[in-house]
Amino acid sequence: MTDPPRADALVVFGITGDLAREKIIPALQAMVRRGNIDVPIVGVARSGWDLEKFQAHVRAALEEDGSFDEASFERLASRLRYVDGDYTDPDTFDRLKEALDGHERPLHYLAIPPSLFETVIQNLARVGCTNGSVVVEKPFGRDFASAQRLNEVVTSVFPERSIFRIDHFLGKEPVQNLVFFRFANTFLEPFWNRQYVDSVQITMAESFGLGGRERFYDNVGAIRDVVQNHLLQVMALVAMDPPAGSDRDVFLGERVRLLESIRPLEPSDVVRGQFDGYRDAEGVAPGSQTETYAALRLEVESWRWAGVPFYIRAGKRLPLTATEVLVELKRPPRDVFGEPHPGHPNHVVFRLGPDVGIVLGARAKVPGDEMRGENVDLVAHHQPGERMEPYERLLTDALEGDAELFSRQDIVEASWRVVDPILDEATPVFGYEPGSWGPAEADALIAGDGGWHDPRPPA
Ligand code: NDP
Repeated sequence: MTDPPRADALVVFGITGDLAREKIIPALQAMVRRGNIDVPIVGVARSGWDLEKFQAHVRAALEEDGSFDEASFERLASRLRYVDGDYTDPDTFDRLKEALDGHERPLHYLAIPPSLFETVIQNLARVGCTNGSVVVEKPFGRDFASAQRLNEVVTSVFPERSIFRIDHFLGKEPVQNLVFFRFANTFLEPFWNRQYVDSVQITMAESFGLGGRERFYDNVGAIRDVVQNHLLQVMALVAMDPPAGSDRDVFLGERVRLLESIRPLEPSDVVRGQFDGYRDAEGVAPGSQTETYAALRLEVESWRWAGVPFYIRAGKRLPLTATEVLVELKRPPRDVFGEPHPGHPNHVVFRLGPDVGIVLGARAKVPGDEMRGENVDLVAHHQPGERMEPYERLLTDALEGDAELFSRQDIVEASWRVVDPILDEATPVFGYEPGSWGPAEADALIAGDGGWHDPRPPA
């Protein structure tokens, strides 16, 4: 599939929202600083503002973020345009067309609640503003069926190649490095399979709670919020076959193939948890069954991975904040040295945040007379350098028309297919103490595979 041409304007719907304030506006300033955006930026909102107020909002958002830089801000401010109006009012879109002033290929960023996607897209079509492309924020639906319906709405107006579905996890530097490390080296490949890998654990632990997002989260839960999208994508990157070529579609094709080879989950593969006290928060429904923790056991039905359990664990109010992938290898077939406690088997860890790096865990001899071993970590830390935040990278790519780091509809559907059977109340929710590693029931899920390996506290 060929990429769409470069966008000649950026339109941000939802510019007054949280996502715009926290992520999109800082990304825009960073893009200006790097010289990666030279097109008009049109904010559309219903706040009754004018351009000056919009510029002041952008400045305040950058100051709050701590990234404000006078020179870059001035250049950014000079690119801004503002259209005031409700998205349910067709006149808003006539004014948008005017503000675009002949720019024919705008990139429309829908940083708005999914319930408004259809209204905005239909109105864009009505005023003939659909030559460009569109960025759709997660969530892409609430389940398999609604993801398909959402896709029908978007593709009724925009062709697939002009649709950019953001999963910002894929834009993270350490996630990119995971892929690079796998496919730019040869040494992993011989053991990256069922012959040598014993199990894989992917953990996304957060020590914090909802911080004011309770109302939103109570309708979503951990499985929809991070498992269906971010963590299944990480699993796909860990387990996919090497792409036969560097073409973007080949690469995406391998990701889909892996996701499609995951057996859909059954209730016995899942333990859901909810931290004690969650239901007392404002915005949470009385008696809510929403999970703030999920542990899942997945199987990949391929020759490479058959029989290797993949575990995913995500939770809030856990003892620390860390995201990592642990690929644990089998022990040597014979214990040559007769060690009473043979330690941790060989492993590869991808630390995806906040600590970032790759660890190769090995056994080495302790100096002295005895043939006794200890675990040693060969650690590749990330070199410090100027990092690109995910939203900056993804927005830059979307403006360029480069979709490699975005989700495709087949990827979205394959991921929903995995979790669809266990959504909502298909399984019970167990309580856990804030600050613990989740409900005890989750330990039973993995007991046969040596138990959970908790990430170490960030340095
Ligand atoms: P908010 O509720 O904070 O913002 C929604 C925006 O839409 C606001 O600018 C709001 O304007 C505007 N809006 C809503 N209804 C209308 C309307 N009828 N006419 C005009 N403007 C309207 O949501 P978020 O910014 O948190 O999220 C936006 C999208 O991004 C959602 O799809 C969300 O799921 C997704 N997302 C958010 C993340 C986050 O960190 N916040 C992370 C990942 C995805 P007003 O202020 O006037 O109400």
